Amino acid sequence: MPTPLTEKEVNRLYQLLNKEQRELLEQYLKQSKKSKWIEKLAHKKGVILRSDMSMNEIWDILNDWELKEVLNGGYSQRPYRCECGMPLRFCYIVHHRKENKTYRLGVTCLGNYTMLYPELIKDITNGFHKVDLERDEILKRYENGWDLTEDYIELALSEQIQKQIDVGLPLSDNQIHKTEHQFKDELRRIRYKYELERMAQYRKESIKSLSHSEYQGVSPTRRSSINEYLITYDQILFKHLGQLKQTRENEHKIVNSSIKTQWSTVQNSVKSLKHGEEINYSDFLSRMLARCII
Ligand SMILES: [Zn+2]
Repeated sequence: MPTPLTEKEVNRLYQLLNKEQRELLEQYLKQSKKSKWIEKLAHKKGVILRSDMSMNEIWDILNDWELKEVLNGGYSQRPYRCECGMPLRFCYIVHHRKENKTYRLGVTCLGNYTMLYPELIKDITNGFHKVDLERDEILKRYENGWDLTEDYIELALSEQIQKQIDVGLPLSDNQIHKTEHQFKDELRRIRYKYELERMAQYRKESIKSLSHSEYQGVSPTRRSSINEYLITYDQILFKHLGQLKQTRENEHKIVNSSIKTQWSTVQNSVKSLKHGEEINYSDFLSRMLARCII
């Protein structure tokens, strides 16, 4: 596991952000810590939470201590006070709905006042550590310069991720991973579409770079390569092996006869490439794209 940034580094990187970015990041980290708290509590109690549950429903089921706020007094500051009287830098405000009690506690007193199990508290603080690492990742990406992949532009992203993009705050690996998973099919289609566009552009430039007489002088095979974008057997496997395998496993489910034909043409193209022949890669991609829409 990577080590978190030092306090000094975090402060330095925070200074690079504008007010809007800083507030959005802070709010995201708070929200993530609250989610970790819920996740660990639910796990400990063996409660399965559905994604469509409201916070009220969740807390009715969990019937336990809810994390309302994590306050950070700042480096070498201890402006908060624990219920036991100890001055605190980090203060956890926890509330129990049914007992209607609220406590302001330091991490060492959490267990004493809430009767939460020590190993649960350890799980929760480990979860918070992961949130801190995610914060570090976002801050480091911001400093190193980060560009959003153009593939995400057309997606109906979650509110948090869209806001981060709008204010120019990088996404963490965790957020990218979730987005890739959530939009798996859309992203596959979008990436094919871009690949086709890139090829069309490549073709245009290759032809433009040759004068008319040069183009006429080029051998028919080379000319067709320029038109069809050269691709080798290895490259096809590298780019498409996963999808080819997946389609082969599911080919018995294909009922549409046009898609059946597309799929058999795709397989023939791969065989031809294997035998050292050239194929029309744009056609290949369009057929793969048709297969995706099944
Ligand atoms: Zn205390």
